[in-house]
Amino acid sequence: MSDFVLEGEPKVVEPTIYDLSTPGRTGVTFPEPDVPRSDLPESMLRKNLPLPELAEVDVIRHYMHLSTFNYNVDAGFYPLGSCTMKYNPKINEDTCRLPGFLYTHPLQPIETVQGNLALMYTLQEWLKEIGGFAAVTLQPAAGAQGEFTGVLIMRNYHKSRGDDQRIKMLIPDSAHGTNPASASMMGLQVVQIASDERGNLDLKILKKECDDTVLGLMLTNPNTLGLFDEHVEEAINIVHDCGGLVYGDGANMNALLGIVRPGDLGIDVMHFNLHKTFSVPHGGGGPGSGPVGVVSHLADFLPSPLVDILEEADGEVAPLFGFITPEKSIGRMKAFHGHFGGGLVRAFTYIAMHGPDGLRQIAEYAVLNANYLQARVRDTYTIPFDRICMHEFIAEGRFEGSDIIALDISKRLMDYGFHPPTNYFPLIVHEALMIEPTETENKDTLDRFADALIKIADEAINDPDLLHNAPHNTKFGRMDEVKAARELVLCCWLPEDYENQTT
Ligand SMILES: *Cc1c(COP(=O)(O)O)cnc(C)c1O
Repeated sequence: MSDFVLEGEPKVVEPTIYDLSTPGRTGVTFPEPDVPRSDLPESMLRKNLPLPELAEVDVIRHYMHLSTFNYNVDAGFYPLGSCTMKYNPKINEDTCRLPGFLYTHPLQPIETVQGNLALMYTLQEWLKEIGGFAAVTLQPAAGAQGEFTGVLIMRNYHKSRGDDQRIKMLIPDSAHGTNPASASMMGLQVVQIASDERGNLDLKILKKECDDTVLGLMLTNPNTLGLFDEHVEEAINIVHDCGGLVYGDGANMNALLGIVRPGDLGIDVMHFNLHKTFSVPHGGGGPGSGPVGVVSHLADFLPSPLVDILEEADGEVAPLFGFITPEKSIGRMKAFHGHFGGGLVRAFTYIAMHGPDGLRQIAEYAVLNANYLQARVRDTYTIPFDRICMHEFIAEGRFEGSDIIALDISKRLMDYGFHPPTNYFPLIVHEALMIEPTETENKDTLDRFADALIKIADEAINDPDLLHNAPHNTKFGRMDEVKAARELVLCCWLPEDYENQTT
């Protein structure tokens, strides 16, 4: 234990790109100009621009080396609850780089992008089928923007019926923070609904809050405890009976694919997270995508434009795809058509590769894996809502007679080579460890992870300092995360006298 690292101190100080710079070394040599030179005015020139000088290969090696410090789903197990960090099949990367997708521009005439439009139309149709909805927009850039889109649709629907007094959004206490954030951005009053002792929405409280000022309920099912609400249809009926609409947070669709359609349960509007359920990379990996599905009486309010068939196929002639604007559209939510290549093409590929049976299997294995892990750690960790879980479960990261907290356990997991689970969410569980293995992990990985958790529980009692000071095997020791977030330093490589060197 003598090789503990001081707080946040790197074990090896990596050279910056400036340290590697050698005057005169260059990555590119420009040819002599073949047009007359025209000099910029002296006042516009910087005399001393401190740019590093390196050959191309040195730059590549420097950044390649740094990139190996990143933990990612291609490097190892990543059980970050609620985020569905599943393996992203590499065929998605092939399709989204096909020249016809990659080199088109959103302002091209529709006749020249019929393939792209056909893909978007088909994806809309598939998401309608998967979610049980009447119409889908692909525009929103992420789940949170999907929520905002959905809540805006709900508000406009009520307003169009003269129901202006509906200002309250009911949100369970287990909800993701984006739910209350989306509702308050809309100027709505957020009313928190408690969960009952089985982790379901408390129906008595829900009933009490329902009246004609309720705009709707934002419901996550399975909820963020990883539990399927046992009275979900009853809860939805209660809200509908008082004239409210029900928003479904679809981030947890990985548990439902091919088994339950939220639209069939009575959900009126829901976002999908293509970057969770449908294997689009995320978490620094690139663009999110949060399509929104709605039932028929909300279809007129969707953002514009939507992709539709403008002229039906006629014998040998293919259909003509183009854009339409729904009659009472809330307007545009995003420039152009959402994240086309990075999000939509990848998700389309993923669904096409799996087909209906494959999608169902995804959900079945996601649920099986989570239940297997839960069963393996149940005797060691407190499971606050101990029943069959869906695609994720919550354990408490604390032990009787020990001052170890969830954060210590997570940091120690890094020493065993795992990405930590989500910590301290949902808020209603003390020292929450939210574990979502996903369907893409095999039994060996799940066993290794369970073994590590069990070993750490033993360390927590018998060698707590090992956890207090973890991680020990990473490039950096325990970080001051608050300081890192509040006092972000992005330019640490600039020479100290940078200001003086510029004119
Ligand atoms: C991820 C998530 C969101 C927000 O989605 P983003 O795409 O990150 O904006 C909302 N609700 C739940 C339950 C989530 O897990």
